[in-house]
Amino acid sequence: MRKDKLEAPFLKYLDKELTLEWLPDDESRLGLTRFELEANELYRRRRLNAPPGKITIGLNSILVDDNKLLQHTLAHEILHAAGLLDHDGIHSKIVRKVAPPPKLKESIVLKKIRQEVLAGLPERQWICGSCGFTWERKRVTRPTRCPKCAKPFKA
Ligand SMILES: [Zn+2]
Ligand SMILES: [Zn+2]
Repeated sequence: MRKDKLEAPFLKYLDKELTLEWLPDDESRLGLTRFELEANELYRRRRLNAPPGKITIGLNSILVDDNKLLQHTLAHEILHAAGLLDHDGIHSKIVRKVAPPPKLKESIVLKKIRQEVLAGLPERQWICGSCGFTWERKRVTRPTRCPKCAKPFKA
């Protein structure tokens, strides 16, 4: 327990110091935590159990329709705000426990991000090296067989 207290010393200040806001539309990150203080000073205050100053959590507004991912993102950022500044094992362990990320099929935002990643690939089609058949890429992993000639897939 003592360890937990040391890990999240800003928790007791959140009521007073924390503001939530939506990120600007051109922001691609899902969420972020902003402190007014510099990192060195912040770590010093964490060590001394001193107040962290103003904290802002920004969330991406695409999350409004994706409750599970919203909660996951918010939990992630609130832990930062509470003083778990780094992405270490404890941070991700707690997030997974209190607000696990949605599965791909449950999340419209994750699907959309995945779609954008796919769209950014140089080739959006698979081409069978045996018969030349082309088809649209719907998944990131390579197909095992060509859907037309059924030969093992090679590009
Ligand atoms: Zn983070
Ligand atoms: Zn083929």
